[in-house]
Amino acid sequence: SDKPKRIVVTGAAGQISYSVLFRLASGAFLGPNQRVILHLLDLPNMEEVLKGVQAELHDCAFPLLDDVVITSNQAVAFKDVDYAYLVGAKPRGPGMERGDLLKDNGKIFVDTGKAINDNASRDCKVIVVGNPANTNCLIAQHYAKDIPRENFTAMTRLDHNRALTQLALKTGSRVTDIKNLVVWGNHSPTMYPDIRNTTVNGKKATELVDSNWIETEFTPRVQQRGAEIIKLRKLSSAASAGNAAIDHMRDWVNGSDEMQSISFYSDGKTYGVPEGLIFSFPVTTKNGKYEVIKGLNLDDEVSRTRIKKTTDELLSERQAVEHLLKM
Ligand code: NDP
Repeated sequence: SDKPKRIVVTGAAGQISYSVLFRLASGAFLGPNQRVILHLLDLPNMEEVLKGVQAELHDCAFPLLDDVVITSNQAVAFKDVDYAYLVGAKPRGPGMERGDLLKDNGKIFVDTGKAINDNASRDCKVIVVGNPANTNCLIAQHYAKDIPRENFTAMTRLDHNRALTQLALKTGSRVTDIKNLVVWGNHSPTMYPDIRNTTVNGKKATELVDSNWIETEFTPRVQQRGAEIIKLRKLSSAASAGNAAIDHMRDWVNGSDEMQSISFYSDGKTYGVPEGLIFSFPVTTKNGKYEVIKGLNLDDEVSRTRIKKTTDELLSERQAVEHLLKM
């Protein structure tokens, strides 16, 4: 359309954002005919860095990029935005418990939720990348009552993409040959990458790989891939996380018949997951909406155990921030 779309990226001075921003500006998200205005938000002490990122965006002379707003003010950052990539979050410091991280980041996402509610477009679509992503998403959503609940999602697409490639490598196929793969639950090591309903070139994946490989190689590899990257690169995954964020948003906006993994608010009626968790389910997307794929079989022992484990973790994360969800 003629009107540029506004996209905010938080934590815009960080590593993941450094890969996301340039692809947003190049059209990788909204395509080659949609002009964009980027809003870069980070903490006040990162202002210099934001100026540097803004300068580099200018230096690309992207034809689709109308403007780059840099700010540490949430009201400015979220003003009239159509899409929000919530990447910024406090990393876990030495000696910090998971609960401490939940509390510190919880507070950030309270303010973010309010700022979205007060400033963003009424149909702003949100992806949370900053960890603990699912629970951060739950908090932001809680404070943005005027925005449709389903507009708040958290990213499990990187886990999904990792699983796709591991299976493709193992079976000597291409990722596009693989259908019906999903990652269930929390974006954390308890996630459940599920290939029980998956086909590779029309053949059942479980007949192409043995269950021992699934249990002892595939599943832990996908679950621990983040740690593997840190060990190799001496830095956490950034380009692949940014790529997954763009895949998630692009497929949500443009639609896709492929099974995707998206974390969103559970209604209590889907696959036995309790109500009120941001949980990753299998979906397809159409007309800017995602829809759960129903009827997958989770009756086997392994699936039941894994779904329970990741559900229990999300319940305990929610409990740790309960005080924030009462206000
Ligand atoms: P990154 O850009 O590497 O990571 C940002 C967040 O994404 C982290 O919470 C990280 O979690 C999470 N993440 C989710 N999936 C992945 C994945 N697969 N691989 C790696 N990370 C993943 O962090 P930086 O430290 O480079 O940048 C963060 C920026 O956010 C800083 O500039 C900081 O100032 C800013 N910030 C902004 C805030 C705001 O705008 N309100 C608030 C707080 C910070 P994990 O730590 O678990 O890897």
